Amino acid sequence: MHPTPDLPEALPAGLPAPASTEQLDGLAHDLRAAGMKPLRSAGDLEGLAADGFVYSPVLQPLLCGRRAQIGVAVSSAEEVLQVATACVRHGVSLTVRGAATGNYGQCIPLAGGLLLETSGLKRLRHVDDSSGVFTAEPGIVLSDLDQQLQEHGRELRLVPSTMRTASLGGYVAGGSGGIGSLRWGFLRDPGHLLGAEVVTLEPQPRLLQLDARAAEPLNHAYGCNGIFTALTMASAAAVPWQQLVLEFSSWDRALEASQQLPASALVLNALCTLEAPVAAQLPWPQGCPPADGRAHRILLLAAPDALPLLQSWLPQLQGALIWQAPQGQSRGLPLRELTWNHTTLHLRSQDPDLTYLQLLLPQPEGPALDGLRQRWGDGVLWHLEAVRSMGRQRLACLPLVRWRGREDLQALIDHARELGCLLFNPHAITVEDGGLGVVDADQVAAKHSYDPGGLLNPGKLRGWR
Ligand SMILES: Cc1cc2nc3c(=O)[nH]c(=O)nc-3n(C[C@H](O)[C@H](O)[C@H](O)COP(=O)(O)OP(=O)(O)OC[C@H]3O[C@@H](n4cnc5c(N)ncnc54)[C@H](O)[C@@H]3O)c2cc1C
Repeated sequence: MHPTPDLPEALPAGLPAPASTEQLDGLAHDLRAAGMKPLRSAGDLEGLAADGFVYSPVLQPLLCGRRAQIGVAVSSAEEVLQVATACVRHGVSLTVRGAATGNYGQCIPLAGGLLLETSGLKRLRHVDDSSGVFTAEPGIVLSDLDQQLQEHGRELRLVPSTMRTASLGGYVAGGSGGIGSLRWGFLRDPGHLLGAEVVTLEPQPRLLQLDARAAEPLNHAYGCNGIFTALTMASAAAVPWQQLVLEFSSWDRALEASQQLPASALVLNALCTLEAPVAAQLPWPQGCPPADGRAHRILLLAAPDALPLLQSWLPQLQGALIWQAPQGQSRGLPLRELTWNHTTLHLRSQDPDLTYLQLLLPQPEGPALDGLRQRWGDGVLWHLEAVRSMGRQRLACLPLVRWRGREDLQALIDHARELGCLLFNPHAITVEDGGLGVVDADQVAAKHSYDPGGLLNPGKLRGWR
């Protein structure tokens, strides 16, 4: 039995009451005294009130209209500490916002309170040229950070397909993987996050320097147990990635290639497999032939030295290379912005009745996929992403699902589980329910230490309740 329903029908129980006018006035007074500008107009607060939860027809009615009662933008760790101190003093809850591209309403406050806008915290503080380890502030946009790392011959190991807008802090606190997951696994794998500077919401808030182990419970905790003011992370040697589009007339051959290519010694950074009807509805980079609705496509980011072997291997895999361009030099959308949840974004722009799931397929993948394809027909369209999970090459998938109501979506989830798929539920509100469904005792313990009053992002950490 799953501990909580997969598809929530109500907000989590036990949310604190919104702040009173008296609390808000006191907080605003303290913020102004510290030289900051509290945002209280309906327009300002409305502008801070949305993220990508709209992709979920389950979350939409629950989160729509939820907003903060006061906002403030910060540009230094000292200001974050002052905001935290004021929130504790007046007992007002605090939710952090990066770039608000999360898909589960991670930065949508469930109980009003203050929204901390962090885009002004955007410095790359340090790069160690011998190891590539860097320290950057959480509000930095990932593509800006990556560009600055390139000047040191380095690049980010993992980025979401939203890297042109998403922030580093939001990615670590609310994201999971994406481009690079084929090589580097997921953000919570040990070795990516090497340390963090954090502001607490203790009775007397502090600015702490945490090493890798101490920072771990704050990784992917939706900002429920501390506020990042800097993150220290590993990077990778920069590679001039080539964007390649392959075509296959048979789905089985496309699936085989999706299994075999990541199992080779080719250096690949992403492999995204799209069933023909999905490929047919995507916009393609300039110069790339549009999809005809019959051929399935694999999108690859590959190192230049992968090309000679790929070209000679493709006939045997029964695929064909139909387009290639260096990343950063093609016109129109980068290939990256057709992968991960960008696939969902583009398909939903054509048909807003589509939603999605996130599954890790069992191995071998073929039987589970066949079972799902047979039962769900064209009510579900298939989109796979190659990933490394627990050190092994695996296939994840983000199927596009025609919304026919909660029962139908639950039946699909149940069927996928019966076939051995692992669900990473995008229709969930709490940290735990969007992951493996289990409470992480270290995350909860960190909340007890750093946020004993439960003021940070209330309602999002199920284990706290
Ligand atoms: C089209 C599309 C494609 C996507 N593709 C991917 C993908 O490939 N991979 C992926 O993992 N995700 C993906 N996402 C989800 C999302 O873009 C990423 O998770 C992104 O990195 C979130 O960053 P953000 O700055 O927008 O964070 P936000 O949405 O602003 O915040 C996310 C969470 O982090 C917390 N937070 C933010 N800053 C801090 C801080 N300084 N301290 C503590 N907590 C903080 C917030 O409170 C919130 O809980 C996609 C979303 C969309 C809409």
